[in-house]
Amino acid sequence: MPKPRKRSRHNPIRRCAACRRTAPKAELIRFARTPRTLQVQFDPAQKLPGRGAYLCPNPDCFRLALKRKSLERVLKVKVDERVLQAAQQALELS
Ligand SMILES: [Zn+2]
Repeated sequence: MPKPRKRSRHNPIRRCAACRRTAPKAELIRFARTPRTLQVQFDPAQKLPGRGAYLCPNPDCFRLALKRKSLERVLKVKVDERVLQAAQQALELS
């Protein structure tokens, strides 16, 4: 018998830019590259328009993302370190 997959339609799978782990989008932290300005912002509500990049909600992945510029690689634009640091603080991941 196939398992019921009730919520899968609203819970797409995304990949962490740092450790490459895949997880339901709702379990990851989203950063959005704003159309036109190409500014990258922390997107806690996962509702901002534009291309997204994702990180696991843990300090290791944030550290790794800062070190390897993982978000820049995914989003193809410069990402201000402060965006990551502010998100980390907001999430109390330090
Ligand atoms: Zn990760």
